[in-house]
Amino acid sequence: MKPSAFEFRNAQTLSEAAELLAEAGGEGKVLAGGQSLGPMLNLRLARPKLLVNIKRASDFRKVAADDKVFSIGAGWTHAEIEDGVLEDPARGLLRYVAHGIAYRAIRNRGTMGGSLAHADPAADWVSTLAALGATVVVLGVGGKSPQKRYAAETFVEGAFTTKLAETDIIAAIEIPRLSTAAKWVYYKICRKTGEFANAIGVVIHDPKTDLSRVVAGATDGPPAMLSKAAARLAESGAEAAGTTVVDEIREALPHLDCDAQGLHAVAVCRALAKLGREQHE
Ligand SMILES: Cc1cc2nc3c(=O)[nH]c(=O)nc-3n(C[C@H](O)[C@H](O)[C@H](O)COP(=O)(O)OP(=O)(O)OC[C@H]3O[C@@H](n4cnc5c(N)ncnc54)[C@H](O)[C@@H]3O)c2cc1C
Repeated sequence: MKPSAFEFRNAQTLSEAAELLAEAGGEGKVLAGGQSLGPMLNLRLARPKLLVNIKRASDFRKVAADDKVFSIGAGWTHAEIEDGVLEDPARGLLRYVAHGIAYRAIRNRGTMGGSLAHADPAADWVSTLAALGATVVVLGVGGKSPQKRYAAETFVEGAFTTKLAETDIIAAIEIPRLSTAAKWVYYKICRKTGEFANAIGVVIHDPKTDLSRVVAGATDGPPAMLSKAAARLAESGAEAAGTTVVDEIREALPHLDCDAQGLHAVAVCRALAKLGREQHE
């Protein structure tokens, strides 16, 4: 199929793009890498009257850093992150995750911001950024302070649903730096390398910054933040944390059948087991 007719505009800045979206009165969409939007247009699952290309917006790929936080402009591609063009504030986790997204042609164009905005529950950045305690920085239209900020773990509200309003654009993602003492494991279960995940387990333990996170991703909605397992991880280590996972997944995802719950438990338990082995090395 071919897309339905739309007007196409290039925005020079993200605020210009937001203004254009406002003028379109809910009938506009921004185009970043086009790797999800392209197929949706072709299948006519999306029928915007206006498409605003933000790839050339001067402020789409800003980078800012201090000793605690690294801010990545939303327009950096998976491939650039994979290749280490940018510093990795998560001590290799971002590069590792980027490498496992789809295949290279998609990584060359797909962006971190586009992935978050699209909010496929199985997308890799959704779970990773929630686990890292990242903040999504959003630019809205007009006003004195058009910026909004959302914790990545609550930004995705459901499958393909986020906190973004119709004229909102993700400008950047702020990622807290992991310390040299941090350990992480990302465990993705998928049928073939490069496919969307069936289940994701992300475990991060950083005793120096007091960050302990255990996340079950690629659910049918937002990633499940397993806070009991995270507390056990901080207090007693990865092995102890693993003992709480099955029950906590049942509590967090009660609507899933036991097969799906089991798969999520496997992803998280394997991530914890791997972390545990590393902690003992
Ligand atoms: C075959 C295939 C396999 C894939 N496998 C994986 C995988 O294994 N893991 C994974 O995580 N992803 C996977 N993806 C998705 C891929 O990562 C996409 O790049 C990503 O989902 C969308 O990013 P994009 O920049 O291309 O966004 P686009 O396709 O340009 O946009 C997607 C949506 O987000 C909106 N949008 C884009 N940028 C912004 C912004 N800055 N602010 C607000 N709204 C915005 C658009 O309007 C649109 O609605 C796969 C895609 C394909 C086609």
